[in-house]
Amino acid sequence: MNLADITAVKSILSLPQKIVIVPHKNPDGDAMGSCLALYAFLKGMGQTVHVVAPNDYPKFLKWLPGNEHVLNFERENNEALAALQEATVIFTLDFNDLSRCGQMEPILKASNADFIMIDHHQQPGDYALVAYSDVCMSSTCEMVYNFIEYLDGLDSLDKDIATNIYAGIMTDTGSFKYRSTSSRTHRVVADLIDRGADNMDIHRQVFDTNSPSRLHLLGVALSNMVILSEYCTAYITLTQEELDQYDFKKGDTEGFVNYGLTLEGIIFAVIFIENREEGIIKISFRSVGDFSVNEFAREHFNGGGHDNAAGGRSEDSMEVTIDRFTTILKNYKSKLNP
Ligand code: 5GP
Ligand code: MN
Repeated sequence: MNLADITAVKSILSLPQKIVIVPHKNPDGDAMGSCLALYAFLKGMGQTVHVVAPNDYPKFLKWLPGNEHVLNFERENNEALAALQEATVIFTLDFNDLSRCGQMEPILKASNADFIMIDHHQQPGDYALVAYSDVCMSSTCEMVYNFIEYLDGLDSLDKDIATNIYAGIMTDTGSFKYRSTSSRTHRVVADLIDRGADNMDIHRQVFDTNSPSRLHLLGVALSNMVILSEYCTAYITLTQEELDQYDFKKGDTEGFVNYGLTLEGIIFAVIFIENREEGIIKISFRSVGDFSVNEFAREHFNGGGHDNAAGGRSEDSMEVTIDRFTTILKNYKSKLNP
């Protein structure tokens, strides 16, 4: 954040504001952790604050401190709408474009509030008065830590805030192993532990709460995996029937896509998950090295994200989507065989 932006934010927050904090649709650990950390910090400053999530999120995030204050736009629609309509300041966290907020997009676009973006995705949109955007950052949570530091607020970074920030950094960095994990990330995490974040407990709450049906679904996903050695690619499909058979709950497929990358020689992994209710196939792309899945997702599947982790969607059937994917792949043969 540059000095002008810091000064602008300090000046905005020196007055009492009605603040709403918004994560992207289908919020993940980084989105919820950053929103709840910022929520607690701004509440501590005496501000009026709401977190409004566009839709529901997995159970393994519902223990995060402050979770009980989150308004779900789909479930608590009236309260959420009222908060958004009254907002004088809207923070948008962990996404780069208002289209990532699903049904909340038109409401956000019509708002007269001052927008403050904190985000690490590529191609940031230009809707914000203040945009703290840095694609080199490990996570939005690491940026919220920096944001608090810029506002000279580290003294109020307590255990609850530290826990939320730790959870978001941990989930977005694949437990501190992705390329964007810097020595600074580790210094921040060390400070969070000093401030009370219980690292072992956070790992257990997020990763060790499997249900038997989720593990069985993982078994199905792994046996559905197709390996295209010629393209150094592995992909997984999960149909709605398979999800239903194993009692699918939001978040159950989190991390499945990464298994493809654990195969020797595979640098591109994809999972296609049918969502009959929305009439789409939701796609997650992952890569190692220089193959940009952000570009791939943007170009062919109406999505985006980061160089090594992106998402997208298809409105075709699973069969047609896979056909299209394998056809497109042929144009990437040289990029996938560096
Ligand atoms: P995931 O595959 O875990 O849903 O998402 C991977 C990354 O891509 C995350 O940073 C996520 O925010 C981003 N992402 C996921 N889906 C989409 C999408 O449809 N559009 C864009 N622009 N980004 C996405
Ligand atoms: Mn993130």
